Amino acid sequence: MAECVFCAIVSGDVPADVVHKSERTVAFRDVNAQAPTHVLVVPRRHEPDLAALSAAAPEDVAAIGTAVADIAAAEGLGEGYRVVFNTGAGAGQTVFHCHAHLLGGRRLEWPPG
Ligand code: AMP
Repeated sequence: MAECVFCAIVSGDVPADVVHKSERTVAFRDVNAQAPTHVLVVPRRHEPDLAALSAAAPEDVAAIGTAVADIAAAEGLGEGYRVVFNTGAGAGQTVFHCHAHLLGGRRLEWPPG
């Protein structure tokens, strides 16, 4: 999709600190990290959010889960981690290409802000 920064990262047109790739996903470190580990897992397919991705390609949702597990293990997040899909501007979504935030490496409070 034109002008989507995450599509550009998937295609390699925009550089990123890529930590994991699968047939269906690419994962890279967030430029504005909120935790020692802050990785974004994105489907290669462009869909705006989790609901749209679930409807269009549920296998991609499973692939995100698998990628999260692989990355969490590689990053040593055995104490626990958080997975967040901000959905909609009211929830803080700023990039409208579905993505999971994987956060870990520090104590994570609940409820979130
Ligand atoms: P959200 O606000 O949930 O849509 O998350 C978008 C995230 O993408 C933010 O945490 C940004 O810091 C991050 N981000 C935006 N552009 C880039 C980029 N080029 N490389 C890595 N992370 C990015």
